[in-house]
Amino acid sequence: MDTLLRYVVEPLLPPARPLNMVRVLRITTTRQCWMQCAFCDFSQYAPLVGHHTASPAISPDHIQQAVSAASYDLIKVRGGLTVWEPWSYFVQLVRHISSQSRAPIQAFSAVELMHFHRVEKIPLRDMLDELRWAGATSLGPGGGELLVDEWRETVAAHRLRSAEWLSIQQLAMESGLQSRAMLLVFHGITPELIQSHLHALQAIRDLSVIEIKPLRTASSPMAYWDPPHLLELLAVVQAIRTQWPHVDIVMNRTLLSEDALTLLHHHGVNHVYITAKEIG
Ligand code: SF4
Repeated sequence: MDTLLRYVVEPLLPPARPLNMVRVLRITTTRQCWMQCAFCDFSQYAPLVGHHTASPAISPDHIQQAVSAASYDLIKVRGGLTVWEPWSYFVQLVRHISSQSRAPIQAFSAVELMHFHRVEKIPLRDMLDELRWAGATSLGPGGGELLVDEWRETVAAHRLRSAEWLSIQQLAMESGLQSRAMLLVFHGITPELIQSHLHALQAIRDLSVIEIKPLRTASSPMAYWDPPHLLELLAVVQAIRTQWPHVDIVMNRTLLSEDALTLLHHHGVNHVYITAKEIG
């Protein structure tokens, strides 16, 4: 009877929550990163300071033009890891963005924080407090793709371990930043991997957003990997909704057909990111 309800009756009913379209300004600080994660478009070596050919990080003028061009529901700041600009530059960057816009700012991720923590020896808690002071409202979910260490060692050997990622999320919440997690869905993901990841996420108190990210392989070293099947995405959405009835489940609009979006919305996706503008 449960199965009948889930697959036959439920899709005919109106979705439990309305679908919220989130207009996003994406600011990418650099498209190079030394960390070489196999699933990432940015995974190319960044030249060293003194011999670099990398273009400089995004300028304040770029930001001003982008922010004033339209209104946004969310500003996302992200980028690869280099050693060109110091942490203080990025804090000022976020401060500058927040002085130009009232939109919530999702700035950097646990991976970037750990990078600067190691390079500049700044305590993580201080960095999170600085981000909050600068105007960030949440930390990005980057680094939390799949919280299974064996998998991480295979495709992202330099990444922080699952426990480190989780503890930085917890610290971020203590600094007043909203908690955001993600799940990278790839073809062949198993129910065991999904459940291990969701089990790890139980450690985050007051988890409010889970972003589902279908693996996009076009220009990453994992380009040979097939994209996930719609049924794999559906299984992930159902598993999340079963465990977290109230968490927001977010996907990127550009990756979904209209039919796929309708189906996933019925099963629990309730926010969709639309890239309104992208710089960097
Ligand atoms: S750390 Fe982030 S930006 Fe760098 S290669 Fe990995 S996923 Fe890409």
